[in-house]
Amino acid sequence: MRDYYDILNVDKNANANEIKKAYRKVAMKYHPDKNPGDKASEEKFKESAEAYSVLSDQDKKNRYDQMGHQQYQQFGSQGQGFSGGINVEDIFNSVFGGGGSFSDIFGGGDIFGGRSSRQNNSSRGNDLKITINLSLEEIFKGTTKTIKIKRWEKSNEEAIKCSECSGSGEVRFVQKSFLGQVVNVQPCSSCSGMGYRGGRIQKTAEIKINVPIGVGEGNFMTLDGEGDKSIVGSQNGNLIVYFKEKNHELFSRSNNDIYIDCLINYVDAVLGTEIKVPTLSGFVKMKVPEGINNGQLLRLKNKGINELNRHRSGSQYVRINIIIPSKINNKTKSILQDLRLNLDSETEFKKISND
Ligand SMILES: [Zn+2]
Repeated sequence: MRDYYDILNVDKNANANEIKKAYRKVAMKYHPDKNPGDKASEEKFKESAEAYSVLSDQDKKNRYDQMGHQQYQQFGSQGQGFSGGINVEDIFNSVFGGGGSFSDIFGGGDIFGGRSSRQNNSSRGNDLKITINLSLEEIFKGTTKTIKIKRWEKSNEEAIKCSECSGSGEVRFVQKSFLGQVVNVQPCSSCSGMGYRGGRIQKTAEIKINVPIGVGEGNFMTLDGEGDKSIVGSQNGNLIVYFKEKNHELFSRSNNDIYIDCLINYVDAVLGTEIKVPTLSGFVKMKVPEGINNGQLLRLKNKGINELNRHRSGSQYVRINIIIPSKINNKTKSILQDLRLNLDSETEFKKISND
């Protein structure tokens, strides 16, 4: 059976750098832009991203090496199926430095469908990029944002073909170097690479963005045709909206799970209690069982964030911190002294465990 090492065509003892190189090679070979419409290549491209996502993460790699391929796929990735759990483009961009030529539609099905690879022609409008900051509450509920962008649109005057570059938008010049003659291509300076002059005006456009539930840092969506408008052609640029998550004053997010610390006193820890826990959907009652230990996590199922484009929610975890007061009053002190007489536990020593 093919395992992740086979998929990347790399030795089991390969180091991180070798794994990265191997992934680059496979990803380049099977990149959908290079193999348009070829399903088998697309599969291989996704497969390589999956393999790399595991082998490039030391924790995951260790687990994978321990469990073996089949076991890991079943259990190791914690129920996250491949297509749902990782974002192929994110992985690709992490290695190739972003700016990949395909658009992201949130790890869903058809990221490779439909879009022909982009030509860099001067009649096409430019893509614009913006970043939207979202609160955790907005991510939890989904939201609509209206943003203003400045973009180029057609004006009433006619665009005139640039005479310097004859409308190509670029100028070529031959340079002599020690390697011989080198042809240099640069954007035409008199038309800024547009190929024409005039005919355009910068306008402010208001654009409504429906932010889906569960987006995360690094996700982006592409609004087709909402970038700079094409002035002399028909292909408008796209607007690429990046999402950023604002820091929350109370909650920490890890994937779709929410984490929070809860401070309780030692009597409640011993006897158990009921607490009211703040969640993204309001306060929730939770039982703290008797005899709980410091650092123990309690889980509120489905109180996390709904996974993007899926009907599946994360959980909220409450970490228990037992507070030992540095000062107590005399009454408490005498109760505790009485209590000590009734406790039969003795001081013990143990080797420090690193588990
Ligand atoms: Zn020009």
